[in-house]
Formats: sequence, C-alpha cells, structure tokens
Amino acid sequence: MKTFTLDEILTLYKKKDPTELFKAAWDTTTANHGESVYLRGLVEFTNKCVINCQYCGIRRDNKNVNRYSLESETIVDVCLDGFNKGLRTFVLQGGEDRDISVKDICQTVKDIKRKTDNEAAITLSFGSRTLDEYKLMKDSGVDRYLLRFETSDQELYYRLRGMPLADRLKNLEDIRTAGLQVGSGYMTGLPGESEETRINNALLSRDLELDMVGIGPFIPSDETPLAGSVQEPIDYAIKGTALLRLLLPKAHIPATTAAGSLKPTGREDMIKAGANVLMPNLTPVSVKKDYLLYPGKICLDETGTQCIGCMSMRVKSVGRKINFSRADALRLMNGKI
Ligand code: SAH
Ligand code: SF4
Repeated sequence: MKTFTLDEILTLYKKKDPTELFKAAWDTTTANHGESVYLRGLVEFTNKCVINCQYCGIRRDNKNVNRYSLESETIVDVCLDGFNKGLRTFVLQGGEDRDISVKDICQTVKDIKRKTDNEAAITLSFGSRTLDEYKLMKDSGVDRYLLRFETSDQELYYRLRGMPLADRLKNLEDIRTAGLQVGSGYMTGLPGESEETRINNALLSRDLELDMVGIGPFIPSDETPLAGSVQEPIDYAIKGTALLRLLLPKAHIPATTAAGSLKPTGREDMIKAGANVLMPNLTPVSVKKDYLLYPGKICLDETGTQCIGCMSMRVKSVGRKINFSRADALRLMNGKI
C-alpha cells in the first residue's frame, strides 16, 4: 500500500478535481480497515447544557428547547435493545448537564457492561471534564471519550465558546492520560474560517494522534447568535474527510449525521472519501426532536432499528459492508495503548 508524504497529501488535496484525492483516501481506508463500515449506536441522553456555544441549538440561553434527560434505566434499556440487534458499541452523548453527576453516568455504564457480559464498548461524550473524572470513567469501564476541538483557530474558538482552545486541548491530553481511547474532531464552514484553518484542523488531528475523528458541516441554527450565517458547501467536510484519512490512516472516521442532514447522500459521499463508521441514532423517538443541535437533522421519526436497516442499504450502495464489531482503536488492537 502506498503511503503518502505530507507534501503529496497536500498537493492531492489542493487539486481542483478531487477524484484522485478520494481514490487515494478510499484505497487507504481499504488497506487499513478492509471493506467494513462499523456501526456505533448513538444515545443522546440529555439536552441540558450549562455551556453557551454560539453555534449550538441546545446552548444554555436557548429558551425554546424542551429540556430532557433520560433516566438511567432508559439508557440501559436502549443499549440492551441495540445489543440484541447486534450492536457492540454505544456512544452516550449529551450537553454539559450538571444535574447528572459523572458518578451517576459511570454507574449507568457499569450496568450496561454487566448486562452485556462486558461485550459492549462504551464511548462517553458530554463535554469538558477533569482528569479525575476521566480516570473515574476509565475505572468504571468506559472505553472511549469523544470531545471535538471544534476548530484549530484559537481566536475563532474563543469567539465561539468564550474560553481558550488550550483548555480543550488539555482535556484531550487528560482523556489520553486516563487511558481512554481518544475521539475528537471539528466543524467545517464556521463563520470566519479559512482554507488554511481547515488544513490546520486536519494537521492538528494528526498531531493529536486521534483514535477517532468526527467532522461535520456547521449548519446555522435560527435559535443561536449565528442565525443567518452563510451555509458553506458540504464539500469542505467531504474533502476534509479524505485529507484526514490520508493523514490518519488508522483512525476511525464517522460519516456524520450533519453531513447526511445537509445533503441526502452526504454520508455516502463521506464513506467514498474515507469514512469507515456510521452511527445509527438509538435515542427514543419521543425526545429525538429535542436534541436539535442544528436544523434539518435527519431520522427524527425513525427508530434505531429503522436507522440500522437504512444504513445497511446505504453502505451497500457504495460498495462497503456493515460490520457490527466493537472496532477498538487500532492502536489498542496492536497492544500499544
Ligand atoms: N456537549 C458535548 C457533546 C454534544 S455536542 C460537546 O459539546 O462536546 C456534539 C457536537 O455537535 C459538537 O462537538 C459540535 O461539533 C456539533 N455541533 C453543535 N452545533 C452544531 C451545528 N450548528 N452544526 C453542526 N454541528 C454542530
Ligand atoms: Fe453544550 Fe455541546 Fe452544545 Fe456547546 S456544543 S452548547 S457544550 S451541547
């Protein structure tokens, strides 16, 4: 398998016609991950959040959100249902809900682990936490943590989140120190972002040696201070996927819901550009519509089972195969974590 130098990768990325870039990314994916597209069941367990990110539809100051948090038993049941359908990885995601303690969510994870004979891998994603909290998660059986750095541009980051990027990067370091597999990522098309930012986003992902990187197009929400921002082209996220794949051949890269929401075949396009993960949404239909980070989110009326069926067809249509296995970080599978 050909490996590319940084110069070669950037030359491919900057070509007007992306055909060669996508082909190189597809071949690199096949060489490192085979034909598989791995499934991770997503459970959006709370939409309460004490943070006020400018881009996010469930930010603290949006009073038009019907706030919910799922009971621990519900989260466990949703995961068990997914487990019985064959899923072996679950991502529990939410806002920074201070009503749910890290200890509580760790207990939920322990229950899921026990009821699945430790077979299910669990990823948590509910914002910035302390090193001790990440360690507690690790001790409770949590396998992975997802925390996007959102943008590599320090000024833009500060403008959007009101805190320094350095803090977020410290969180990512702490996640690794705690022994968790590290997932991060960013949005493309944020207001004020440049092509240079997008390249730097991918380079930062490489430097952080991420196990998982999720990227998605920023979709402006009317419920935020960024209402009325220009919807930038989805191509930034698709080409970004290919760039990431070439820079991080072993990483797990999801074809994200935001891409599918902006363009009906957005996720297929991402798979063709090097993505190898899909995340069926298992969140109970009764609350799915309330976890609205951006408008136009797809699959709000579908159950998790319907999502899995739909995804199998989509994956087949681009010449890949659904795979239900845990798909840990390749770093871990090689015994190097
Ligand atoms: N509260 C946690 C996890 C939930 S938000 C956190 O912030 O880390 C998950 C991701 O949704 C964010 O990391 C962000 O990249 C993405 N997101 C938020 N608002 C968005 C929007 N308007 N368009 C596209 N993606 C968005
Ligand atoms: Fe809260 Fe995450 Fe939304 Fe920021 S992106 S407001 S932290 S849910």
